[in-house]
Amino acid sequence: MSDDNIRHGGCLCGAVRFSVKGVPLRAGICHCQDCRRASGSAFNFFGIWERADFKAAGNLREFRGRSFCPDCGSRIASLQDDEVEIMLGSLDFAPTDIIPAYELWICRREPWLMDLQWAQQFQYDRTPVTAVSIEGPDIAN
Ligand SMILES: [Zn+2]
Ligand SMILES: [Zn+2]
Repeated sequence: MSDDNIRHGGCLCGAVRFSVKGVPLRAGICHCQDCRRASGSAFNFFGIWERADFKAAGNLREFRGRSFCPDCGSRIASLQDDEVEIMLGSLDFAPTDIIPAYELWICRREPWLMDLQWAQQFQYDRTPVTAVSIEGPDIAN
């Protein structure tokens, strides 16, 4: 793998820097209340990488599994044992090549936001039970 495959990111003040290697395992957006509060916005756009493909430098603090810079408050990542969820807005370059494949907590989606027609829709968290079928040109059978 070349260096081209490494994306760099960081917090607003620059005290925390990180990198992720390769393409994300998956990417999505979440409209849940925790994501709203943590981001201070209407939804959260995130990508999941293998934990081993994530490197961080600087001081990260954590609240309920969500890591952030204690100096400027920027949300960075959520670290799990084998995966890491990256707040894609924290990347240095806009991740325009990363397309969210699913939406979580669509019951809380703002009414002025369109659903992503190609994305798998979940009423709540990402479990098969809560998947919702949507009509779309790409969905056959
Ligand atoms: Zn910072
Ligand atoms: Zn959420």
